Amino acid sequence: MSDMKIGVVGCAGRMGVALLKQISETSGCEIAGGTERPGSVALGQDIGVIAGLGNLDIKITEDAAALISSVDAILEFTAPAATVKHAALCAEHGTAHIIGTTGMEAEHQSAIDAAALLTPVVQAGNMSVGVNLLVEVTRRVAATLDADWDVEVVEMHHRHKVDAPSGTALMLGRAAADGRGINHDSVVKRGRDGITGERERGEIGYASLRGGNVVGDHTVIFAADNERIEISHKASDRALFARGAVTAALWTKDRAPGHYNMADVLGF
Ligand code: NAD
Repeated sequence: MSDMKIGVVGCAGRMGVALLKQISETSGCEIAGGTERPGSVALGQDIGVIAGLGNLDIKITEDAAALISSVDAILEFTAPAATVKHAALCAEHGTAHIIGTTGMEAEHQSAIDAAALLTPVVQAGNMSVGVNLLVEVTRRVAATLDADWDVEVVEMHHRHKVDAPSGTALMLGRAAADGRGINHDSVVKRGRDGITGERERGEIGYASLRGGNVVGDHTVIFAADNERIEISHKASDRALFARGAVTAALWTKDRAPGHYNMADVLGF
């Protein structure tokens, strides 16, 4: 059986480099190319060299259409606007799209949902096994406890992160809302500052910390009178997200078009 050809869009980014390394270490797939944004200093460089893998004789280009039309799957950890553009190209060519990009607004998400009608899309705010398990545990704990238990999600990331709360924090908050059988967006409280008034019963709150090179820490707090449950996950290397993304790409082989998440890939 021939190797799955995988392209990496945004291949010179922090996750891009981790993804290239992961593909090179995984059997059953190969690095088939990579793109970067117009103006990036990585354009024209060898993809293997930027990932510390030695010369692979594949130049980084800005031609996403050429890449997407020639591979089986692309891995994408870029920005929402770029992801939407690439989703349309994936739909056009039937290329599987593995999306780790976070910070999507509603209009980005509906464009991705539309693309998933035509090609397999795996989208997850976090691709690690541990976090996806934490999501499941959060859903179950929330389903067990009533709204006297206040739910707060606290996250910390490196100083370069541009969106807040993190995609993972939102996954956790949505899982808590799901467990309670309520609509997340109607109870969400994003950040507090100044005279906020008292906390409302049933609210799901978020707090975001930024600093250093923290890869990603998340804690879900269930706080009642006199007792508190805290469940946490700490990521110490981007390789774990890259491993999840490559596993997802391999999982899409011969898969029908659809919108999938990591729980589908991991069989939770
Ligand atoms: P980064 O800024 O280091 O990398 C993003 C890369 O995308 C950059 O190299 C940028 O030039 C490139 N890019 C932007 N627009 C492009 C375009 N149109 N075409 C090609 N390349 C383009 O950021 P990062 O830390 O690697 O994170 C990227 C995204 O992934 C963020 O949204 C982050 O929150 C998310 N992320 C998700 C997970 C997960 O498991 N789902 C894990 C880590 C990071």
